[in-house]
Amino acid sequence: MTIKQASELEAAIERATAAGLEVVAHGYRKSHPHIKIYCVPSQTEDNRWHVISLYGSHLVCDCRSRVICTHRAAVHMELVVEAAHAAMRAAEIEAAFERDAQQTCAVINDAEKAERDEANDRRDADRWELIEAGNW
Ligand SMILES: [Zn+2]
Repeated sequence: MTIKQASELEAAIERATAAGLEVVAHGYRKSHPHIKIYCVPSQTEDNRWHVISLYGSHLVCDCRSRVICTHRAAVHMELVVEAAHAAMRAAEIEAAFERDAQQTCAVINDAEKAERDEANDRRDADRWELIEAGNW
């Protein structure tokens, strides 16, 4: 992304945020189910949604804007939030894995300690038998 595109996107995000634009619906193209689509209300026409398609990593809007439009900016913000949620969820899952691993280690450690204690008890019992027998 060039500096001009970055500032264009920032300006579009500011306009979309100021207008309170948000994605109101999403789904997939019926004719191309691998292409995800998002709907954002039009600011100039009542009862009209603009359809923004995600082709690979390119957002394409059906409006006539020649610069990055508020609709694409709204979808971009939605995707950023989605990505943040996915990253948070992945971190939660990773943390759960670590907790499970620590608990498994604790169980294994407990089992090893129980084995050691049992072996010590047997050895002590043998010693007591020897002491009682006077063979120590
Ligand atoms: Zn647009």
